[in-house]
Amino acid sequence: MIKRIFTKEEWLKALEGLREHYRVFAPVKEGDFHNFRLMGEAGKPDFDFQNTRLSPKSVIYPQSERMFEYTLDETRQDAHVMKESPKDFSPQAIVGIRPCDGYAFQLVKINFDNPQYQDPWWVRRMEATTLVGFGCNEPCATCFCTSVGSGPFSEKGLDALMVDLGDRFLVRSITPKGEKLLEQIALGSEPGESALRKAQDLSDTAQKKISTRVPVDQLKSKVVNKLFDAPFWEKVSFACVNCGTCTYLCPTCWCFDIQDEVLGKEGDRIRNWDACMFPLFTLHGSGHNPRDKKVQRVRQRFMHKLKYYVDKYNDGVACVGCGRCVQYCPVNIDIRRVAQVMNDF
Ligand code: SF4
Ligand code: SF4
Repeated sequence: MIKRIFTKEEWLKALEGLREHYRVFAPVKEGDFHNFRLMGEAGKPDFDFQNTRLSPKSVIYPQSERMFEYTLDETRQDAHVMKESPKDFSPQAIVGIRPCDGYAFQLVKINFDNPQYQDPWWVRRMEATTLVGFGCNEPCATCFCTSVGSGPFSEKGLDALMVDLGDRFLVRSITPKGEKLLEQIALGSEPGESALRKAQDLSDTAQKKISTRVPVDQLKSKVVNKLFDAPFWEKVSFACVNCGTCTYLCPTCWCFDIQDEVLGKEGDRIRNWDACMFPLFTLHGSGHNPRDKKVQRVRQRFMHKLKYYVDKYNDGVACVGCGRCVQYCPVNIDIRRVAQVMNDF
């Protein structure tokens, strides 16, 4: 394991230097929010934040991605031939990712990289990515990572972890990818005992600051059909406006739709994020829609995260407790309360 300590200026310089080897994504303040941006294309990285509004999932799995392109021009020899659109799989690093979001990539891997199916683009991008986590000294009031298998200083899914010691950053490697990243930085020094102790204290204190306990321990034992037919879904879904905010912000939501767009004789096949909260998501070509009612869509979202996933993978819930959906739902639908209702039913 490599451990280095940097002044904050040194760390920014180190990230600049890393751009020789990686495309570096870091949090940048934009208006009231922080978002992950490619260094060199946006403002200066800023690590004074609780969490980014959007999860960094789009760095691996873009919100809109051109998959293939083709021409309908019959005068060309390659008319109607589907060609893979150019994509960038060069090494990249996401620096400053919160531990919940790092863990989310592990959950999403179940969908995109499993023995039955490998999504070639997700897999190649993930292989090319080094995740430098950032311990949460001050978790948000809406965080509940400790109830769902993660924690403010959890290392799950991360290659390295940064700790904000106030005037300096302590960075330690977790995996060979993290070691390689740190080996490429000439700046920094060996941390002393007091810095290491301080980092441990910050971790212990942060763990205690997350007071919300969301019960999910009984979900596996519930009968799926009983939960599906439970009377509380009308009440849970009543206020939902089907805006899709919860799914778009969520680091573990992975659904997409594939559309063809043709301009003149040139066509693109594009993959776009989609969401179970939208009526069109399940509309069949026949016109039938198995989830044409709001209550069915809201139930699907919670049943998928808190019951179907639990039963299928036996690996906890499909939620990392980042609290984004709680913070940004315009009508205050709260997954923590829904989990409790389902768990206690
Ligand atoms: S953010 Fe809230 S209102 Fe919007 S779709 Fe999700 S649960 Fe419904
Ligand atoms: S369901 Fe909500 S709290 Fe859970 S990971 Fe998704 S956005 Fe975060």
